[in-house]
Amino acid sequence: MKYALVTGGSRGIGKAVCLQLAKQGFNILINYTSNKEAAEATKKEVEQLNVKADLLKFDVSDREAVRKVLSDWVDTNEDKNIEVLVNNAGIRKDNLMMWMKDEEWDDVVNISLGGFYNVTKQIIPEMIKNKQGRIINMVSLSGIKGLPGQTNYSASKAAVIGATKALAQEVARRNITVNAVAPGFIKTEMTDGIEEKDFKSVIPMRRFGTAEEVANVVGFLASPASSYITSEVISINGGLL
Ligand code: NAP
Repeated sequence: MKYALVTGGSRGIGKAVCLQLAKQGFNILINYTSNKEAAEATKKEVEQLNVKADLLKFDVSDREAVRKVLSDWVDTNEDKNIEVLVNNAGIRKDNLMMWMKDEEWDDVVNISLGGFYNVTKQIIPEMIKNKQGRIINMVSLSGIKGLPGQTNYSASKAAVIGATKALAQEVARRNITVNAVAPGFIKTEMTDGIEEKDFKSVIPMRRFGTAEEVANVVGFLASPASSYITSEVISINGGLL
């Protein structure tokens, strides 16, 4: 019974990842934090692909909640195995550094970076024991080049890139790969306020990407075809540098 856990799996890129991994035969654990309706709709769509889907409600930045929900799931599902972890949950709260509120910094860092730590820490012992696993972290072009108005977001994503590379080296001998996917502009609710027409001219492919295009890369990294790739950051941004 192989499972993939997708944090922030209810909407946007996470939802597309859930559907892609389901198509590849994984049963899916869909994490969400507030939008129950969206999570239930995603669960239904996943189940239509003839795999099992469970909803796991927790805020990835709440360490105690992550530990409780995940350990309860493991205790009641001893015959099942989480082979793939996609750390996808993320938010943005953009502001120039001089105007940034403490909570805008803390929320973004605690969800992107803290969430990576809280969830991965809980999942990795079992992967090490089983000598099998794929960890895929959703980062961003913003964490590679830095974007004005996003010191909080760029810092969190850059930190997760560092953690990806460090962890990859720690667990490579155990047949666990750790990689990151760095999207540019992707059409989801996160980019709702950003007009495609205003940014088209700077993107060589002259368009935003889709969640499905990102999910295809995640699907590849979760598949046997990527077995010798680890510690990598794969950009998916239409050529935007
Ligand atoms: P989105 O459409 O806003 O969806 C965010 C998802 O994350 C939702 O499922 C949401 O759950 C969940 N989430 C938010 N905070 C959470 C928390 N504290 N605990 C658990 N789940 C939480 O965002 P998206 O565009 O799909 O982004 C997904 C990832 O891709 C993020 O890490 C983002 O930084 C990254 N990314 C996006 C873009 C882009 O252009 N869209 C570009 C580069 C990187 P609820 O439904 O419960 O709210």
